[in-house]
Amino acid sequence: MKTPQQSYRLTEIFYSIQGEGLYTGMPAVFVRFAGCLMACEFCDTVYVEKFKMTAPQILAEIKKYPTQTVVITGGEPAEQPLSELIKFLTAAGLKVHVETNGSVYFDPAGAENITVSPKKYVDARMLSAAHVIKILAGRETDYDDLKKYFQYFSPSRLLYLQPRDNKQENIDLCVKIIKQNPFLRLSLQTHKFANIE
Ligand code: SF4
Repeated sequence: MKTPQQSYRLTEIFYSIQGEGLYTGMPAVFVRFAGCLMACEFCDTVYVEKFKMTAPQILAEIKKYPTQTVVITGGEPAEQPLSELIKFLTAAGLKVHVETNGSVYFDPAGAENITVSPKKYVDARMLSAAHVIKILAGRETDYDDLKKYFQYFSPSRLLYLQPRDNKQENIDLCVKIIKQNPFLRLSLQTHKFANIE
């Protein structure tokens, strides 16, 4: 296995519980990549660069914790050479999950789970590669805009609606849409309700 040579720009690496989506409740090491060109006005994630690490340094940090699952998130991890890191960590025996906005295509080979949460722009190839598509929805969401993702549902690809900001009105709206389209699933940010860091 070729070791990636570059250093990755990172915000934080921490051990916690997956709070949302298909793997809710699963312990995992989270590697948060720095930077995101999408600049969504509602973004509540801190993704400034705090440090850099090579792939072997990232692996050594993950191995400090008693789990085989790593969640690569951001910021937007695909804005850095992500495929090489997925292959490297997979070859080391880890189960790699990626959370991406899908705006930059990358080879997902080896990853156990790719969750795409589309924002202003998404590469259709990433929607096709996703195991999970997670759509944020709220009062301001255009239903026709949201419906364009429904075609990507399949028995092997789940579609989640996640209420924006955990606001009750947005939860109510998501529940209403899901009841009308029962192939959809509800994703709540349980870590925020439970104050899990
Ligand atoms: S795509 Fe995600 S991380 Fe990037 S700005 Fe938007 S909400 Fe924040």
